Amino acid sequence: MIRIKNYINGLFQDALSKSTIDLINPSRGSIYGTLPDSESSDVLVAIKAAKEALPAWKVLSFEQRFDLLLKLANGIEARMQEFIEAESMDNGKPQWLAAQSDIPRAISNLKFFASAQMNFPSESHFTPGQGLNYTLRQPIGVVGCISPWNLPLYLFTWKIAPALAAGNTVVAKPSEITPYTAYLLSTVCDEIGFPKGVLNIVHGLGGKVGQAIVESKDIKAIAFTGGTITGRAINIECAKQFKKVSLELGGKNPNIIFEDCDFEEMMATTVRSSFTNQGQICLCGSRIFIQKTIYDKFKTEFIHRIQKLTIGDPATEVNIGAVVSEAHLHKILGYIDLAKEEGGIILTGGKRVKPVGECENGYFIEPTVIEGLNHLCRLNQEEIFGPVVTLIPFETEDEVISMANSTPYGLACTIWTENGKTALRVAERIDSGIVWVNTWMIRDLRTPFGGMKESGIGREGGFEAMRFFTETKNVFIKY
Ligand code: NDP
Repeated sequence: MIRIKNYINGLFQDALSKSTIDLINPSRGSIYGTLPDSESSDVLVAIKAAKEALPAWKVLSFEQRFDLLLKLANGIEARMQEFIEAESMDNGKPQWLAAQSDIPRAISNLKFFASAQMNFPSESHFTPGQGLNYTLRQPIGVVGCISPWNLPLYLFTWKIAPALAAGNTVVAKPSEITPYTAYLLSTVCDEIGFPKGVLNIVHGLGGKVGQAIVESKDIKAIAFTGGTITGRAINIECAKQFKKVSLELGGKNPNIIFEDCDFEEMMATTVRSSFTNQGQICLCGSRIFIQKTIYDKFKTEFIHRIQKLTIGDPATEVNIGAVVSEAHLHKILGYIDLAKEEGGIILTGGKRVKPVGECENGYFIEPTVIEGLNHLCRLNQEEIFGPVVTLIPFETEDEVISMANSTPYGLACTIWTENGKTALRVAERIDSGIVWVNTWMIRDLRTPFGGMKESGIGREGGFEAMRFFTETKNVFIKY
């Protein structure tokens, strides 16, 4: 059994109350360890440590911070296989996916922001006849980072890396459903002698640990990735305190497929953008709009490929692993029932899978494709966050843009066309923070990342993240 501990002031600790929460392996449906069920009192200890560590951390030279963040990245790399297996066991995702994406990306996040802080410019503006402005971007202080369960270490490092690089100290909370790799990261901190109190990781429930981080007056900014409902509550609390907040929230992303697309490339990518990580990526496309002239061809080929996807033990070479928890499994199955009530036709999938052997009690769902639903029904408006997509035909560009923009969300969109003018026009009019043309999920870490409407506030990535994690001060000198 694995016993995860809090990492506070460089020490591994149980919750002060000694209470624990069970850790569940979603591909087995069984308990494999515990994590601390921390309270606000644990968060207070972590905040105290972060405050004490701040003065020394924020005055380190760029090179010193670079070296320490690089050591963290290298420490993960040195234990790559352990991290891959932990991520897969904790989350249910196939090991190959954790090996290809999650863990390498966590390493890249740390390397990228280690270097970004060295290249982050301060600005100056000369005012003719009067003097010179220069703009400082200074660390904010102690900041809170709260991350979700779908890409656990990937998103955890996406927040803590820029926060630390910018000279802040951190109190962080990974999702209580998938805390394992954040815990392993704390063991890397210990191994490499990362300065005590600079990164504090408090495990436990959102309503207790997350809430205490958000409510603390000593925490000067919150970077949160998670659901829109949680994000709204956090935003309200931060507004009361005029606290800086960055919210990366849910999505209901459209894939827009025009008749003139490169069919083969579009098809291969659309299978991936629908079902990678069991559809539990905020950037997955869940509403697939297909131009009517190729709708039947698309449907036949798509279903054919989906039915060939393999489901089962994430430690093997399957395409699809387990969804993250039993509660999430039932939420997704509930949406499939809703699709039927709303008049949808299940073209393939729709059922729970019970693989023979060790995984028979795991939380597996067939990749599911549904058609026949109006774009305004609940199934096409609400985020399901699972292996469920809908097919919706369209005739004109105006029609598809209006349907694509009809949800409260605005995170990501893919456009498939060989006509450059169509791509430019649609990209301009679509309400989403990220648009991919003829591809999906290519991320250059220098680019802004975030959503419009209820998909979030603010942008992370590159210097946007460095700006978020610093306080701006303009100084004017008269001559
Ligand atoms: P949640 O909003 O449920 O949780 C996210 C994190 O917030 C968890 O660590 C959670 O803790 C914590 N939390 C819960 N309640 C509070 C609270 N009151 N105060 C502070 N923290 C709290 O999201 P999920 O973990 O279910 O993640 C899935 C969601 O994340 C989806 O909606 C998805 O779209 C979104 N997401 C968005 C991304 C983006 O970049 N836009 C990227 C990835 C996911 P606990 O786990 O203990 O409840």
